[in-house]
Amino acid sequence: MKKVLVTGGAGFLGSHLCDRLLDRGDDVLCIDNFFTGQRKNIAHLNGHPRFEFIRHDVTFPLFVEVDQIFNLACPASPVHYQFDAVQTAKTSVIGAINMLGLAKRTKAKILQASTSEVYGDPEVHPQTEDYWGRVNPIGIRSCYDEGKRCAETLFFDYQRQHNVKIKVMRIFNTYGPRMHPNDGRVVSNFIVQALRGEDITLYGDGTQTRSFCYVDDLIDGMVRLMDSGDDVLGPINVGNPVEFTMRELADAVIELTGTKSKIVHRPLPSDDPRQRQPDITQARTKLGWEPQVQLRQGLMRTIDYFRSVVGEGA
Ligand code: NAD
Ligand code: UDP
Ligand code: UDP
Repeated sequence: MKKVLVTGGAGFLGSHLCDRLLDRGDDVLCIDNFFTGQRKNIAHLNGHPRFEFIRHDVTFPLFVEVDQIFNLACPASPVHYQFDAVQTAKTSVIGAINMLGLAKRTKAKILQASTSEVYGDPEVHPQTEDYWGRVNPIGIRSCYDEGKRCAETLFFDYQRQHNVKIKVMRIFNTYGPRMHPNDGRVVSNFIVQALRGEDITLYGDGTQTRSFCYVDDLIDGMVRLMDSGDDVLGPINVGNPVEFTMRELADAVIELTGTKSKIVHRPLPSDDPRQRQPDITQARTKLGWEPQVQLRQGLMRTIDYFRSVVGEGA
């Protein structure tokens, strides 16, 4: 039985990952400081014989014995990662150093949850892994973007210098059940606003694009990457290449919820990327991975989840 550490395990992606690992028989140690995670995301795992939780902040050293580490700890929503920008940079960088130090000592394999944000506001479209990106080093998104870029650097340096077995995954926008209702990201915002009959806040003119991956597909890609051969280090893009404008997303949410909510425009936040779409050739060829869930199908499942959490017309 493998002993697997999941940092950020009470978060949106982390909690789904814990479920998947337990389902396949692993012994799971979940750590989280509850900055953006929720107790209820892992409440159903209390008492599971192979699940253990420790409240811990990855910016502090952690001494445990494990075979694999999934390093997901870091707020992912712009609203939350900008709330305490210094802590976000510390979580990415010092957190990576601590988890890499742990991997070095225990000889565990370690996967980093990196991000499409390493490409910044990209001039290469769709984004391939060899594109170095266009990132503002001093803007309001930089604590996250540059923190994640530095973490990637550390992963490759620990690999080159200390032979740590690394996997770096560049995650593109992912959505699904267990996103926090006040998370601030676009899918949860639009659905919660629609269910409550509130205005739907479209930033800018709504022509900026994103490509949304359903959480089950993403977790499948993450587990495949961890299990891939030692020659596959990444960085590797995992996301759904079907690209939509934010206007199209708002229209789809309005249609699928049947809401009477109206779209209102709000200013576009600074450094908001204009377009984003993963080139997933590497994930297809090296991991045999392909997203299965269409946007509408995934949105319906997510809407059902939020109905149970926030109610309708509330
Ligand atoms: P999330 O905010 O739901 O989860 C992050 C978790 O990390 C939370 O439970 C939070 O409490 C915890 N955390 C934050 N700082 C911590 C610290 N210092 N010590 C311990 N725990 C800490 O976000 P998510 O969407 O589940 O994202 C998980 C990971 O995936 C993040 O690293 C994020 O950067 C990456 N990612 C996510 C997406 C996406 O679209 N969901 C896209 C790209 C990258
Ligand atoms: N570390 C940790 N758990 C371990 C081993 C290391 O948290 O089991 C931390 C340790 O505190 C250190 C960091 O990881 O600050 C980096 O470890 P490394 O061995 O690279 O550095 P060093 O200990 O030589 O500074
Ligand atoms: N967005 C929006 N309304 C919202 C929240 C976000 O129009 O209520 C836009 C945002 O400006 C961005 C896109 O949706 O262009 C995705 O934003 P999100 O915060 O989900 O993720 P990221 O910008 O990190 O991809």
